[in-house]
Amino acid sequence: MFHGGRDMRGAMEIADVVVVGAGPAGSAAAQQCALRGLRTVLIDRKAFPREKVCGCCLSGAACATLEQMGLGSVLDAQRAIAQRTVMLRAGQRSVRARLGDGRILSRGALDAAMMNAARDAGATFCDRTLATELETREDRVVLAVRDDDGVSSISVRVLIVADGLGGHLLDGVLGRRVRRRRGAIGVGTLLSAEASEIERGVVELGLGREGYVGIARVESGAIDVAGAVNPGSVRRAGGVGAVIASIAEQNGMRIEGVGEASWVGTPTLVSRRRRLGARRVFVVGDAAGYLEPITGEGIGWALASGARVAAIAQRAARCWDDGLIGAWERAHREIVRERRGLCASASALLRVPAIARAAVGVLSYHPDVADSLARMTARRFDLNLVRS
Ligand SMILES: Cc1cc2nc3c(=O)[nH]c(=O)nc-3n(C[C@H](O)[C@H](O)[C@H](O)COP(=O)(O)OP(=O)(O)OC[C@H]3O[C@@H](n4cnc5c(N)ncnc54)[C@H](O)[C@@H]3O)c2cc1C
Repeated sequence: MFHGGRDMRGAMEIADVVVVGAGPAGSAAAQQCALRGLRTVLIDRKAFPREKVCGCCLSGAACATLEQMGLGSVLDAQRAIAQRTVMLRAGQRSVRARLGDGRILSRGALDAAMMNAARDAGATFCDRTLATELETREDRVVLAVRDDDGVSSISVRVLIVADGLGGHLLDGVLGRRVRRRRGAIGVGTLLSAEASEIERGVVELGLGREGYVGIARVESGAIDVAGAVNPGSVRRAGGVGAVIASIAEQNGMRIEGVGEASWVGTPTLVSRRRRLGARRVFVVGDAAGYLEPITGEGIGWALASGARVAAIAQRAARCWDDGLIGAWERAHREIVRERRGLCASASALLRVPAIARAAVGVLSYHPDVADSLARMTARRFDLNLVRS
């Protein structure tokens, strides 16, 4: 696809904005940039469609963001399932909370639909294209990419980096992200429809000594399994399947075939970046920092941050000003601050088994409180968006 220079000196300008990573953050950024009239290219190292480790639950806020972007119909078109209840289990205790506005959709379907929305808005998409290094200059960013045709370098006015939890593209420019030592890692797999009897629209979350695991039936009928587990427990048990089986057993959850499944893992979940930009570069989504998936909000944060960065990218493409990095950091904080507080408190409390059992026990007597807590993830983000 790219026929730019073969070294960093001979780079050719191919667009106003290049977005690296076609997860929800990158595709949202690309769609919004293209709608603002910017020549936009979106790249991903994987062949699309692709699955990803995720609980596949879109919070009410995530669904509202899609509507604000003019993409509300995407969920119906992909047959996303309406999320009715979440069942939280801690040993013998359990509580059911009502979830009003969320949906369940496999990441293969969601991410492909978001990428198509970016294309419909005018962005160019290239999959199997890896961004390998970058150099920031006065008037542009030079990015080295590798695709089936080999290595080339391209030059852009603005680079948006949405390379997710495991991305390293910015390590040379912003330094490595700060990760929690001995923190949990994410794990996931997709099992056949018979692996569980869970009903459509129900999300079951089991809390155990080694971490937690969630299951939900996705639109094809398959069972998505995703969890956050302590890597030490995985080593001791001899594999991810054994740990997930143990958490399921502690909570009376029936999930068949976890021992034989092929599991995909993530780096340590809790991470943050000290800065969210450099000259002509902005970071969005998990690449900007992540906590834990316990409240099921990462997709919403990613969509909102990707969509919101576009207005700043537009100003940056017109005329660079160092103050734009601070402007993006403030906007990003506004999106995630309050919600991250809730997520951090929930994951810290529920990590201690005795507290988890006590909390679930108390909530089972106060279902209205459980409903209100579950609905906190539905609060809309304040975004300044262009509709498709
Ligand atoms: C176990 C687990 C369960 C979760 N459950 C939920 C849930 O139920 N609900 C929810 O809302 N959130 C959940 N999350 C969080 C959610 O998955 C993430 O927050 C979300 O995917 C972030 O989107 P993103 O676009 O920032 O990154 P990603 O979705 O990770 O996308 C990053 C993309 O960048 C590409 N990429 C990386 N490096 C390069 C490169 N150098 N060049 C080109 N492309 C590159 C990758 O291939 C990938 O496609 C969960 C997370 C985990 C780990």
